[in-house]
Amino acid sequence: MLLGAPGSGKGTQAEMITRQFGIPVTSPGAILRREKDLGTALGLKTAETIQHGGLVPDKIIVGLIEDWLRLHGGHGFVFDGFPRTTPQAKSLQQILQRHRTPLELAIWLDVSEQTVGDRISSRLQCRSCGFTTSATSAVFASRPICPYCDGPLVRRMDDEAAVLKHRLEEFNTKTQPLADFYKELGVLRRIDGNRDREAVFDDVSGLIEQAA
Ligand code: ADP
Repeated sequence: MLLGAPGSGKGTQAEMITRQFGIPVTSPGAILRREKDLGTALGLKTAETIQHGGLVPDKIIVGLIEDWLRLHGGHGFVFDGFPRTTPQAKSLQQILQRHRTPLELAIWLDVSEQTVGDRISSRLQCRSCGFTTSATSAVFASRPICPYCDGPLVRRMDDEAAVLKHRLEEFNTKTQPLADFYKELGVLRRIDGNRDREAVFDDVSGLIEQAA
């Protein structure tokens, strides 16, 4: 399992894990953005909270994860951006017990607020498939088109500075306590996420290989 930091340049660490190890990844943020684009009741109900940088209610998020696990979780899983609160983490433990699936790894990417601000101010995301990259990458700055599906690469509305400030407050109060939660379970590994994506991914891969 991965506790993800914001996108690191050319695809998130979670996307890189899926490519390298073939472990399926899910991210509640990506699911909810898609639901909003499709205009579903769930997408519309949660859009305002996301737009303001708040956290979506635990019950909704846990329901999404449970559904996803039932459909895709038979051969391992990576969660990106889940859990983000202690109640979510406790619910996940109960779900995994029911599925008789042990949690092998919680990777905590330590990223400074400076790094988060720098990455998010230049982050671009594909509206169609969710591929994440950076406008600092010259090829995308001049032609903001997704290399995977030709969708438009755009800035996320919740990446605006004022919204980011609220997201960081939510992280500090509600998500930070999960470091101790997973440390007590004996699965927490911390990685310095301020380095470039390849250096971070070398460490992430090493942890996954050790756990295998
Ligand atoms: P990032 O990749 O920048 O961390 P995400 O795509 O993971 O952003 O999340 C975007 C938004 O979706 C969050 O700010 C929050 O509103 C909502 N969200 C995503 N995951 C969760 C979660 N586990 N619990 C509550 N809200 C969530």
